[in-house]
Amino acid sequence: MANVDPKSCWAKEGRLPRIAIVGAGLSGIGAVIKLREAGYTDLTIYEKADRVGGTWRDNRYPGLSCDVPSYWYSYSFEPNPHWSYRFSYGPEILAYIEHVVDRYDVRRVIRFNSEVEELRYLGPQWQLQVKNCEPEIYDFVISASGILHHPAYPEIPGIEDFEGKMFHTARWDDTVSLSGQRVGIIGTGSTSAQIVGEVTDEVAKMTVFQRTPHWMAPLPQKKYSTLWKAFLRVSPWMHPILAWFYKRLMLTTFAKATIGDVKQQQKIEQACLRFLKKTVPDPQLRARLTPDYKATCKRLIFCSDFYPAIASDKAELVTESIEAIEPTGVRTRDGRLHELDILILATGFKVSEFILPTRVFGANGIELSQQWGGAPRAHRAMALPHFPNFWMLEGPTGPVGNLSLISITEVQIGYMIQLLDKMKAEKSAALVVKPEAFERYNRAMADAIGTTTWATGGCSSWYIDKTGKPNLYPWHPSRFYEEMKTPDYSEYLLSDSVEGAAST
Ligand code: NAP
Repeated sequence: MANVDPKSCWAKEGRLPRIAIVGAGLSGIGAVIKLREAGYTDLTIYEKADRVGGTWRDNRYPGLSCDVPSYWYSYSFEPNPHWSYRFSYGPEILAYIEHVVDRYDVRRVIRFNSEVEELRYLGPQWQLQVKNCEPEIYDFVISASGILHHPAYPEIPGIEDFEGKMFHTARWDDTVSLSGQRVGIIGTGSTSAQIVGEVTDEVAKMTVFQRTPHWMAPLPQKKYSTLWKAFLRVSPWMHPILAWFYKRLMLTTFAKATIGDVKQQQKIEQACLRFLKKTVPDPQLRARLTPDYKATCKRLIFCSDFYPAIASDKAELVTESIEAIEPTGVRTRDGRLHELDILILATGFKVSEFILPTRVFGANGIELSQQWGGAPRAHRAMALPHFPNFWMLEGPTGPVGNLSLISITEVQIGYMIQLLDKMKAEKSAALVVKPEAFERYNRAMADAIGTTTWATGGCSSWYIDKTGKPNLYPWHPSRFYEEMKTPDYSEYLLSDSVEGAAST
């Protein structure tokens, strides 16, 4: 066992707190930069892979892009005048992340190939265990492990018998060429739409297995000119304006539609239907692509290429449900065998994991997976009762959907730094959210979520968890931005009695 000092209190000892961050994606990297700026410099990021980038490292599928505008999908402190497109492609985002890491000298605090197996609160410190390594002690742990990173594989009989190449979109097999092949893809979410739109031209045949049609809007893509980029380079004042403009656009349209603005929601629906009519001439195919639930119930897809691709001679939309996977292809309920060389699983992610399967033990040995019981909840998407000195970035019930997660994580980091400052000022060893504050907040969320389109829209989606309710922020995101500006310290128990904190 590592050497824990139960009397240790960084704030009283006048030393810097030791802070461990799990994950070197956009949140973890942003946390290092901002914590350093605030004077908290004893930081270590644990990263399971050998490279930074999180989701932008894991996903390498053709057509990978971000449907949140580039100028908003950037750190506010590191605007990028070089973005090539209004909606960036994956490799350019990954290059931007690498640039930020180098520019802010983040790499030297990252331990690559270091998957955290266990975190254990020993009061007032955490013991962190990486596989095959000596345990280490930290004053704080920040989970920046992301949401969409555990691939969900479909449970289809015979899946292991397929003799062609088969892989999940987040585990893309770079050794496989799709060119001239008979390709099948299961799923029609954002990922599938981007892949189908990108590769259908080059394959021999694209068979798309659709369980549920998704609402789809065209992506107003635009390539930025050299002149425009040169202008932005000499006009730094433009960046906050551009970020503000796109944020405002998303908040006044999609965000409003999800939380009960029927007019906005119908406007989106009409725009999607117009787009479908324009790009898919065959009325029968159109009917099979038309959802029977409300737009924005599932995450709205922005993609201009999927409909033209699926309407082309190269593609077939299969809406008959899948019965089994056989060595040579996919058998549907109507008895038809769809012969394939390559099968792509665009079946999404296990979204109730967050930092799991890392074993996380809070005060009194309570385990996070038990506390969550398959339905993760947190206080303000960040804190958990019984887990002192532990925060999550992009944790459960945060505002996600068609928003910039970078802007959300920056707000969360700012909030967390204020809590650290408070502890420093009050010389507290431990800080934990009060169970009653957690309950109050989550009860209010549960009450409010029922009226959102995610709950009333008549669809099933990855937003809905074991409780049957969407695991999302139920109010307008502007409320989140506002409430997270300053913590309500009365929601937290600050303890300078180390024993008290340990048994909280
Ligand atoms: P997803 O939205 O969860 O879609 C998974 C698809 O697989 C759905 O069409 C689902 O059908 C289908 N599916 C799952 N299991 C199946 C089974 N057993 N049999 C048949 N079909 C099955 O996953 P995703 O497309 O990877 O996207 C996940 C999230 O990643 C998005 O919602 C978004 O937040 C993010 N993303 C963002 C971007 C971006 O541009 N910013 C791009 C890609 C992804 P049902 O609909 O019937 O469940």
